[in-house]
Amino acid sequence: MSLHKFNPNDKGFTEEATYLNEDLEESYNLSTYTWQPGMVDDDGQMMKLRITKSTLSTFKICPRQYYYQYILRLPQGETIPMVRGTNVHNVVEYFWKQINEDVLEVVKKLLDEDKQITAKKLLEGFLPKPEDGFHYNEGIVIEQWFEWNWMRLLICYAENTIHLWQPVGNELEVHAMETLEVDGVTLPVHYKGYVDRVFADGHGGFILMELKTGKWMERPYKYSGMRFEMEFYRQMLVKSNHSEYLPVTQWAWEYPYGQVNGGDGAIWAIEDAKRLSRYAAKSIKTVSEKLIRAHINNDFQPVHTEKCKAYCRCTTMPCGWCDYIDICPGWNMIKEMTL
Ligand code: SF4
Repeated sequence: MSLHKFNPNDKGFTEEATYLNEDLEESYNLSTYTWQPGMVDDDGQMMKLRITKSTLSTFKICPRQYYYQYILRLPQGETIPMVRGTNVHNVVEYFWKQINEDVLEVVKKLLDEDKQITAKKLLEGFLPKPEDGFHYNEGIVIEQWFEWNWMRLLICYAENTIHLWQPVGNELEVHAMETLEVDGVTLPVHYKGYVDRVFADGHGGFILMELKTGKWMERPYKYSGMRFEMEFYRQMLVKSNHSEYLPVTQWAWEYPYGQVNGGDGAIWAIEDAKRLSRYAAKSIKTVSEKLIRAHINNDFQPVHTEKCKAYCRCTTMPCGWCDYIDICPGWNMIKEMTL
């Protein structure tokens, strides 16, 4: 079944490669997800491991899933939540591309004249829709997202900082390279990622914003997971010398469809990056080292084992959502044991 995809932008964001300099472009071309020790390209140049927020997060969830997805490149089924997420991201990216100083000037004038409804309608008009409408509740997600941003605009207007409403970075592609030391061996790696949005904080610093279209659970693991992702982006900006977006003073995330699938509801949160980055940075370092070690030893163990008990979270997440459960040794061992 083909799913209904919608992208009003000229290009998908993954098609628009931007490198800060030639060194980063060369580093990217020498990087691969399938890296093994001693690997060289056709010209005999040493290859390096490519790390993204998604590869690191997947490895953190389950090394075996990472192995199937990024090393063996086994196809994953495309799901409605995935398409919904991509469609919403495309709409939001397009929206921000349309908002320029002229639009903001008109909005400000309308607000000065106390014409809030007209101003809101004007901005809503920049949200594109497919001719045959959305199919997967994208409209509900976008509506909530827009409401929050409308409220934020009213606050900016009241504080005479309407220029801070617009992001200074929109679907920002960031590349960085680094040398990591693992078990006494130094290895070069290349990082690649997309920061959904960057906002100026009005005091010389910047706020990273991540948009999620899945469910939100008010649990410590969700906070630590989000901090892990946000710190990854912060580090990438630092490592790649993107001084135009530094320092990162805060990070934020929004879950406008947080109620889906029994979630705890739509939420957005903003946190002090400086205060929280130390723990997240430690976690990134630990997971990166484990990832490299797994590549060196070619050892990617399933998170689920026969030792898992009924209350283990992996029985519902991530295995419950994993496309590879039928070939996973973690589960096949259990099947064999229960036969
Ligand atoms: S089924 Fe579970 S243990 Fe196996 S690869 Fe998937 S997430 Fe990992």
